[in-house]
Amino acid sequence: MTGEDGGRRWFGDGVPGALRAAASCLEAAAAERTGPYGGASPRELATLVAGVEPFPEEGAGLAAALDGLGRLSLGHGVDPGHPASAAHLHCQPLAAAVAADALVSATNQSLDSWDQGPVATHLEQRLVAGLAGRVGWDPEVAGGVVTSGGTQSNLMGLLLARDAAAARSGREVAADGLGPDAGRWRVLCSELAHFSVTRSAALLGLGGRAVVALGTDADRRLRPGELDRALDRMDAAGQVPVALVATAGTTDFGSIDPLPALAERARAAGLWLHVDAAWGGGLLFSDRHRGLLAGIEAADSVAVDLHKLLWQPAGCGAFLVRDQELLAPLEVTVPYLNPGPPPGAAEAWAMPHLVGRSLATTRRFAALTPLLSFQALGRRAIGALVDRTLELAAGAAEAVEAEPRLALTARPVLGSVVFRYLPDPDDPARSDRVNEAIRLHLLATGQAVVGRTEVAGRTHLKLTLVNPTATEADVAALVALVARAGAGLDQPRQP
Ligand SMILES: *Cc1c(COP(=O)(O)O)cnc(C)c1O
Repeated sequence: MTGEDGGRRWFGDGVPGALRAAASCLEAAAAERTGPYGGASPRELATLVAGVEPFPEEGAGLAAALDGLGRLSLGHGVDPGHPASAAHLHCQPLAAAVAADALVSATNQSLDSWDQGPVATHLEQRLVAGLAGRVGWDPEVAGGVVTSGGTQSNLMGLLLARDAAAARSGREVAADGLGPDAGRWRVLCSELAHFSVTRSAALLGLGGRAVVALGTDADRRLRPGELDRALDRMDAAGQVPVALVATAGTTDFGSIDPLPALAERARAAGLWLHVDAAWGGGLLFSDRHRGLLAGIEAADSVAVDLHKLLWQPAGCGAFLVRDQELLAPLEVTVPYLNPGPPPGAAEAWAMPHLVGRSLATTRRFAALTPLLSFQALGRRAIGALVDRTLELAAGAAEAVEAEPRLALTARPVLGSVVFRYLPDPDDPARSDRVNEAIRLHLLATGQAVVGRTEVAGRTHLKLTLVNPTATEADVAALVALVARAGAGLDQPRQP
């Protein structure tokens, strides 16, 4: 298939045509779509996919490959742009972001050294500085890096917290390992913190049990009083708290921990404060709701996902620190990537290298997609899209409350609405069964993709409304669909 042009049409020369072919494939798939999901079961998909030869000896050409595998993968995906696709923080990307993503893929600048991504290096730092500015920090002093998402950002926050605690007792973890004190180190967070906090503690050698999960109030926010008591207990037990993780947008409820009260305690106890704003970080761009994040500027580090509330393609998060000096434990020197300046080199040629800020080496220029999105739409419009998701959630909560058999679990803060179908007669085990059945029925019929979670051990349903193109009527129809499905599935068995 390489032919007389030495294979060039399979590389750069072929890219414009390949992008046009991809666009046609997208259009054809969209025209065939009727709902958020095609309804195929895992077994049906396994059978379909078993027919895909991963490494065929001979290629079929791009058009045929798009027609086959391309259509298969689009046809059986979940469409995050459909208004009844509302299970997760799984967003439809902005068209501008998709265009930027194509540019990123086509040119493949990499951020592990300046000479693989010269302008990319500077643009990423511009994005980071801009985000830091919105957090309320001095963009000249603050620092950070683009990450694969909140999981990686949380790991980085806890890594720096751990290393800062070790440094206070004169230990450099990167060189010397954890040492004998590490068994006493603890990480504090709410019981609703993301699971990646525990996983990070495990990866960092502290162990998942080093994470102390604190109770929350009726609004699902960490109780500062619980933190005070935990700190006293730890003090008495000779344990050393090294980090406090505050969540600004818990995954299920969107609740935001009381940042000012937690910041005050973190400061008094000398704790590293990491704010996990993977979800709520989008509020940084809202005129109306920015106040919900008041206090975030007191953090040492912040995680923000751009691939959730800011509509970027997956793999776009940011890890931010209030002072770039705090990133020092991540620094590496690799002769082929980031040697120091050669003696006598012109100052203008001092090259910034980001490899010493990231856990990754080869790294995608993911910063271009949000930057280009903001250039195209503007901050105001993106902030308004954020606001819109909050309005939709408020509307969905009202619709839930208007359905006699649905019970709202919590007032929404961000875009998520947690509720439960109450069968008649209501008993908890039966309700669990009916709620599970609703979710599966809607998925299997391809009518809706709704979330499920557990609250106090019982199955609940969840709508995560991060699609600002949905209308009030769409969300009302979705809630009505859930209620109708529940009524249908809750029929007593015929004798
Ligand atoms: C989604 C989420 C994460 C994980 O982020 P990824 O980008 O999926 O790695 C962490 N924390 C919270 C609160 C989240 O909602």
